[in-house]
Amino acid sequence: MKRWSITLGSVSGIVVRVHMTFFLLLAWIGTVLWFAKGPAAAIDGVVFVLFLFGCVVLHELGHAFAARRYGIGTRDITLLPIGGLASLDRMPEDPAQEVVVALAGPAVNIVIAALLFLVVGAQVDTSGLEGFGAGATSFIGRLATVNLVLAVFNLIPAFPMDGGRILRALLGFTMSRAKATRIAARIGQGLAVIFAFLGLMGNPILILIAIFIFFAASAEAYSASIHDFARGRSVAEAMITQFEVLPKQASLDDAAKLLLATTQQEFPVVDDAKHLVGFVTRASLIETLQTNTGAVPIDSAVVRDVATVTTRTSLENTVALLEQRAAPAVAVLAESGRLVGYVTLENLAEFFMVRSAGGLEHPNAATFKK
Ligand code: ZN
Repeated sequence: MKRWSITLGSVSGIVVRVHMTFFLLLAWIGTVLWFAKGPAAAIDGVVFVLFLFGCVVLHELGHAFAARRYGIGTRDITLLPIGGLASLDRMPEDPAQEVVVALAGPAVNIVIAALLFLVVGAQVDTSGLEGFGAGATSFIGRLATVNLVLAVFNLIPAFPMDGGRILRALLGFTMSRAKATRIAARIGQGLAVIFAFLGLMGNPILILIAIFIFFAASAEAYSASIHDFARGRSVAEAMITQFEVLPKQASLDDAAKLLLATTQQEFPVVDDAKHLVGFVTRASLIETLQTNTGAVPIDSAVVRDVATVTTRTSLENTVALLEQRAAPAVAVLAESGRLVGYVTLENLAEFFMVRSAGGLEHPNAATFKK
């Protein structure tokens, strides 16, 4: 998503980006209004959408600042045609905290609406809701009204929208987080189907939102099952123990040969003492090869921001690290600091499937003792 986004700036350490497709939305609205109602309406419509998305950024900042209270950082906020996305490092596991973080976004829109209605004296004006209507009606009234609509829409319990997160948290008071997530995700997907159906009657944005909700809900349900499964297990049970490494003196060609000769897609790079330097991934290798010859040292293709754990670390903490850092792998080190294994999301998924099917009590225990 980063590649197709441009950075607008940052608010107290949180980078705000706009996805390129957002400009398509602006162009589409401008063009439609221009031909339907003329240039003045087109300018009014585009400016209105810019203000609306300004309010969406404030909504996302509401989530980010609430999360910060619980020590959870936010990498960035990205504006898409379907709304804003704040990438929090994680959601709080505590249901009460999750309710606060989820409510903080819609609360911002309610505060904006209240200020516009009470202080500026705006009147309810729904003409902004249909085709970003323009013309004679009050800009402030439309903006206040659309903020109320944003708050109400986000509180629909369509997980992973805000209302769905609140539902998941409330369910979480009486059952496991994985079960609560599964139920919330099912409800979310059911509502997504209804959204898509309503969208077919003339609102393409609603169809996009429905598709997003549908897939995001199943991804979150899967992630919750993995977390549930990882609880009480150690990373040594799940890690990859048979793998090829690259010495740090290797060339890009050496890495390319290894990529072709094995099924591995990521290679730990180690120094002479077998200590980890970083990982070369298929993506980092291909990207580096595009601007370098094969004889160039591997150094420029090494991803260094890799989290490390020890063989005693719990699998649950390892999963959290993998998801948080969006890194290719988490490396597992022995007490001596030597690399003994690593975990990727793919091998975790395999371990999950094998164990769910009743296989292997301790798959790596034997190899690991050697
Ligand atoms: Zn929100």
